Amino acid sequence: MTTEEDAKQAELYKITLIPGDGIGPEITKATKAVLEATGVKFFWDLAVAGERALDMFGTPLPEYVLESIKRNRIALKGPITTPVGHGFRSVNVGLRQTLDLYSCLRPAKHYPGAPTTFNNVDIVIVRENTEDLYAGIEFERRTPAAARLVQLIRDHTPHGDRVSEDTGFSLKVASERGIRRITKFAFEYARSHGRKRVTIVHKANIIRASDAFFLDIAEKVARGYPDIQFDDVIVDTVCMRLVRDPGQFDMLVLPNLYGDLISELCAGLVGGLGVAPGANIGDDIAVFEPTHGSAPKYAGQDKVNPMSMMLSGVMMLRYLDEMEAADRLEAAIAAVIAEGKDVTYDLRPAEHPPVGTARVAEAVIEKLQQAE
Ligand code: NAD
Repeated sequence: MTTEEDAKQAELYKITLIPGDGIGPEITKATKAVLEATGVKFFWDLAVAGERALDMFGTPLPEYVLESIKRNRIALKGPITTPVGHGFRSVNVGLRQTLDLYSCLRPAKHYPGAPTTFNNVDIVIVRENTEDLYAGIEFERRTPAAARLVQLIRDHTPHGDRVSEDTGFSLKVASERGIRRITKFAFEYARSHGRKRVTIVHKANIIRASDAFFLDIAEKVARGYPDIQFDDVIVDTVCMRLVRDPGQFDMLVLPNLYGDLISELCAGLVGGLGVAPGANIGDDIAVFEPTHGSAPKYAGQDKVNPMSMMLSGVMMLRYLDEMEAADRLEAAIAAVIAEGKDVTYDLRPAEHPPVGTARVAEAVIEKLQQAE
């Protein structure tokens, strides 16, 4: 298939494909191959974002990429490098905010054979994706706006005089609409996926205006789902309980920053970033991507694990309602992990040397074919 018209006629799924930076192109190639091997038909609408787009178009997130995602409503994306502390804002955060992809869904599931001290982890993390400290509402120190904010704080808060003039601010933002929709997403997901309990994670004891508010609204939403149990836990307590006994959790719903940290912690509990998929979902657009970044030091070495992006592809198949293909692909990936022969360095059992990214794709395709 070469044109969009051809794709339309053949009723293929049109997906915006963003290979991304660093290891992105290698894991994207591997993921594309296993998705095609399921027999589901795709038209890949290739879009360049990140470092290469910056060279080609002078921006890491060209308008045509956003237009492509809006048109196709589904994207599969590799990781994109974000320069630390200066220059452009993160393309990843920019995409989520521009397209209002307010739910970040990150399952942390242990597949037997993946290295872990726990073998009973199957947690679904729902991270709010547009607000909190990622809202991008920031005031650099010693700017006129920061000076006005310092004055506002001095005038309106009990200990405002403690805020010095050389203070920079990053605002933690929580709106009722934002809290309601992320909590609703979590409970709807629980209901439609047979999950029993949702745990609301916060720091309401210390952070009142945003976290106590998050808890208050989330509890109100939770009461509308009497068939799903809910509880709440303070974020530091969740960290401790997760590393001692992660099997006690079913689903977690969290504000943005805690969600980022806890999902990476949970990735570590099930075998690492090589097996940590994700999806950014809005009302009618979804972008599927691994939890990990572009790991630039491994770029072009045929070394890293493509399974987090493959498992993001499994999530995409389920979103497309291609349940049978999703189950087959997930089972094929699980079989490769369980066998432990064709896995990358991060999953390597002591008795086998690691294989490369491309070989993992071949092995997954072999398992798919054996199951036919
Ligand atoms: P990273 O996730 O890219 O890599 C950290 C380490 O994790 C790697 O050095 C490697 O040891 C391991 N790792 C990551 N992916 C792996 C895989 N598929 N297989 C095996 N091991 C893997 O984190 P970083 O180095 O902090 O970030 C690199 C860049 O990626 C930064 O610019 C960061 O901003 C960006 N980033 C992008 C996204 C995204 O696109 N959604 C997410 C996180 C980070």
